[in-house]
Amino acid sequence: MTTTDEQVRTAVLRATGLTAGYGGRPSISDLDLEVRPGEVVALLGPNGAGKTTTLLTLAGELPAMAGEVELGGERTGAPLHVRARKGLSFVPEERSVFPSLSTQDNLRVGGVDVEAALELFPDLRKRLRVRGGLLSGGEQQMLTLARALGRRPEVLLVDELSLGLAPLIVGRLLDAVRAAADRGCGVLLVEQHVRQALRIADRGYVLRQGRVVLQDTAAALLDRIDEIESEYLAGPQVAAS
Ligand code: ATP
Repeated sequence: MTTTDEQVRTAVLRATGLTAGYGGRPSISDLDLEVRPGEVVALLGPNGAGKTTTLLTLAGELPAMAGEVELGGERTGAPLHVRARKGLSFVPEERSVFPSLSTQDNLRVGGVDVEAALELFPDLRKRLRVRGGLLSGGEQQMLTLARALGRRPEVLLVDELSLGLAPLIVGRLLDAVRAAADRGCGVLLVEQHVRQALRIADRGYVLRQGRVVLQDTAAALLDRIDEIESEYLAGPQVAAS
């Protein structure tokens, strides 16, 4: 993508001066970020830096204490179900398949075309009649992602999709995220596998103590990954004050 293309593309999701937290205490402060259609943006940072808080606030699960969120160019303070109707899909950190429903019914309940989901993740074909709770961790996350993408979102927020999964499965999940972006979806991705995330990302933000301390293209961040890992991504962080 050229710089000119980037400039004319309106952000599908934008945060301006966003501050949010818990019990009146901010965990993220004065955050500016944007996601444009067709790009994967990685949100990086050590434990406690505020990545999940950022996604929850952008999704409408946590109210902003200050600042603005724009979805599709319109300012919003609406809860998640309203943002979902406006094209936002949120994959939270906790696994979110229905454990007592079969894979097939999990897809149907999510309003997802089963064949389209199988095209995305062929591994699920032989597991269609298996209950969600009996799927492996990787299969559950494929199902979760298939449900989120099956709604053809304009914006996808993903929190730690690959927690505890083998690198091969992580790769497949991230490839599906990249493919969704290539079809025009704007993706904001929180991912503990930083290098793998940056390989499929276009840009990235690094958060530290609730603030953006670094932002660049994914290629530039990958070039400096050793420095970034030792300087920004090591060790737990305390909340912004
Ligand atoms: P991790 O990589 O460990 O998931 P994170 O970057 O996603 O970390 P957050 O989970 O957003 O970070 O946490 C940011 C700060 O907010 C931390 O100091 C955390 O202790 C605090 N925090 C998170 N959730 C809550 C909560 N429900 N109540 C109070 N404080 C919270």
